[in-house]
Amino acid sequence: MTAPATGEAVLRVSGLDVYYGRLPAVQDVSLEVREGEIVALVGPNGAGKTTVMKAIIGLVKPRRGRIEFRRDGRWIEIQDLPVHTRVRLGIHTVAAVENVLPRFTVERNLRVGAYTRDDDEIEADLERQLERFPILRQRRTQLAGTLSGGEQKMLAIGRALMGRPGLLLLDEPSLGLAGRVMDEVFDIVTAISREQRLEVLLVEQNVRKGLESSARTYVMRIGAVDFEAPSAELLEDDRIEQAYFGGAAAPAAPTAPAAPAEG
Ligand code: ATP
Repeated sequence: MTAPATGEAVLRVSGLDVYYGRLPAVQDVSLEVREGEIVALVGPNGAGKTTVMKAIIGLVKPRRGRIEFRRDGRWIEIQDLPVHTRVRLGIHTVAAVENVLPRFTVERNLRVGAYTRDDDEIEADLERQLERFPILRQRRTQLAGTLSGGEQKMLAIGRALMGRPGLLLLDEPSLGLAGRVMDEVFDIVTAISREQRLEVLLVEQNVRKGLESSARTYVMRIGAVDFEAPSAELLEDDRIEQAYFGGAAAPAAPTAPAAPAEG
């Protein structure tokens, strides 16, 4: 676990509303990720975590709110930009599932991660990933679809790193993994973030893992951020249980907007 960063933010989400049709999925969500920080977004099923992530990537369009990303010292409003522009700005994602190109070799998957780059350090970065993930060096010429779940997750992270992200969005890294392999994935993510001062926003259903790996945590419940706190504090805090199983402190659910009057 790391201490909450005091530096400037690199991502600011303010007053975000996202609807699916007429149904509100998230309402008035605000959060930020600061320099060098891993931030976890946790909450029960259906709380809206993935929707927030999708809005940051550009896969869903917010009805209201602002998403700002800081690159090279400049703040850029990104909520209306297409996905590929956000990727070029440095926002890279590791999806929870289907996160590798199964018919490409491991090496080719890694190279695909560098597609937004046009510099002469790609080979050195490829070597760095193979260094960091020895299993990928072993499997370099193997088709990605034949890797185990844990290996695919490592490859997906390695591929995202090949893009030299300015912000890494990790969707449910624990999904489909257990025990030692899951621990290894989280250890690698925290090591990378520490060594490279890489900002990470982590959506995680495994609350303990999310808290243990991050500096700060936002707890979502029913489409809204319920509270935010240093992760170390939340590991000792019964508000997490309230957020998951209900309790006096739990906020009311956002209500769907009233249907327009007929006629
Ligand atoms: P989980 O942990 O189960 O993945 P989550 O916190 O990521 O849940 P979301 O997937 O963001 O939650 O879903 C938030 C709400 O939006 C849920 O009520 C869900 O049913 C709804 N929702 C999500 N995607 C769609 C969609 N494509 N169409 C309609 N409703 C959706």
